[in-house]
Amino acid sequence: MPTIYHDNDADLSLIQGKNVAIIGYGSQGHAHALNLRDSGVRVRVGLHAGSKSRAKAEAAGLTVNSVADAAKWADAVMVLIPDPSQPAVYRASILPHLTAGKMLMFAHGFNVRYGTLELPANIDITMVAPKGPGHRVREIFTEGAGTPSLIAIQQDATGNAKALTLSYAKAIGSTRAGVIETTFAEETETDLFGEQTVLCGGVSALVKAGFETLVEAGYQPEIAYFECLHELKLIVDLIYQGGLNYMRYSVSDTAEHGDYTGGPRIVTEETRKTMRQILKDIQDGTYARRWINENEAGRPWFTKQRIQEQNQLVEQVGERLRAMMPFLKPVTVQKEEPAPKEAKARAS
Ligand code: NAD
Ligand code: MG
Repeated sequence: MPTIYHDNDADLSLIQGKNVAIIGYGSQGHAHALNLRDSGVRVRVGLHAGSKSRAKAEAAGLTVNSVADAAKWADAVMVLIPDPSQPAVYRASILPHLTAGKMLMFAHGFNVRYGTLELPANIDITMVAPKGPGHRVREIFTEGAGTPSLIAIQQDATGNAKALTLSYAKAIGSTRAGVIETTFAEETETDLFGEQTVLCGGVSALVKAGFETLVEAGYQPEIAYFECLHELKLIVDLIYQGGLNYMRYSVSDTAEHGDYTGGPRIVTEETRKTMRQILKDIQDGTYARRWINENEAGRPWFTKQRIQEQNQLVEQVGERLRAMMPFLKPVTVQKEEPAPKEAKARAS
C-alpha cells in the first residue's frame, strides 16, 4: 500500500495564510473555491471577461477578478479551466504574475506532462486531483466527509511545496478520506489510458458492438438496448461495491459461466496488444501531439465525430426508452450544431 495522508498529516493553517486564486468556475472550480472558502482560506476566482460563470460565483459570495488580477493577487494559483484552453490563458494572464516563491497548481497533469507551458524554475508546481466530479467534491464536503485526491509535486522551489499542497487538499476535504501521492507523469498517463481503453473508449465501443450485433441479426433494437446498455449499470454498481467477485456472486451461475467463456473471446491477445500500443502512444507523446494539433486546428475531426456519434441508432432508441423510465431522471444532451459553413450550405 502507498502512504495515505489523512487530516493529521496536514496543517490547515499553511493554506489559510495564503491568497488562493481559483482560475475557472466549472465542475472542479466551484467545488475548490467554495470548500476552501468554507475552510477559512482567502479565495478569489479568476474568470475571463464575459464568462457565464461570473454570476454564479458572485451569487455564492465569492470575489471574482480577471484571470490576470487574480493570479497577481495570489500566492497559490489553481488552474481549473479545460485542459485544451490552459496554454493560451496561462501564457497571456498567469505566467506574467508567477513571481518567485508562488505555487502553481493543477487538478490534472496533461499540460505539464506534455510541456505545453513555459514554467519558471523559481516557483512550486503541484497537483491536487480529486477522484470525483466537482459537484460530488462539493456535496460530500458539505456532508462532512471528503473526496479522496491524488497529489503530486513537480517542482519544489520553496522547500514547502508538499506541506502546502497537503494543506490545500485538507481545505477541500480530501484528507478526511485519504490522499495518495503520485507524479504528474503517472497521473496523466494512467488517466489517458483509462479513458481511452476502458472507461470511455472501451465501454462505448463494447456497448455499440453488442447492440449492433443483435440488431443486425434481426432482434428488436429496444431489447438490444436493455441487454447491452441499460443493464450495464446494474453490473457496474455491483463491481463498484464489491469488485468482480461480488458481481459474479450476485449474477446467476449461467451468467458467471458466460463471463468466463465469452470474456476471453472478446478481449483477446490482439486487444491487449492494441492496449499496449495505445499506452505507448500516450507515453511517447504521440497521442498528446494529435489532440493538441486537433485543438489548434479548431477541432474539425473531433466535432464531426461527435455529431456522428450523437445520432447513432442506440442513442435514438435509448432516448425513447429512457422517457418511459422517469425514475432514471433521464437527461438529454444538447446536440452539437454543424459548423456554420456547413449549416449555411445546407440551408441554401
Ligand atoms: P469545466 O469545463 O467544468 O470548467 C471550465 C471553467 O473554466 C468554466 O468556469 C469556464 O468559464 C472557465 N473557462 C473556460 N475557458 C476559459 C478561458 N479561456 N479563460 C478563463 N476561464 C475559462 O472544467 P473541469 O471539468 O472542472 O476541469 C478543470 C480541470 O480539472 C481540468 O484540468 C480537468 O482535467 C481537471 N479535473 C476535472 C475533473 C472533473 O470531474 N470534471 C476531475 C478531476 C480533474
Ligand atoms: Mg480521468
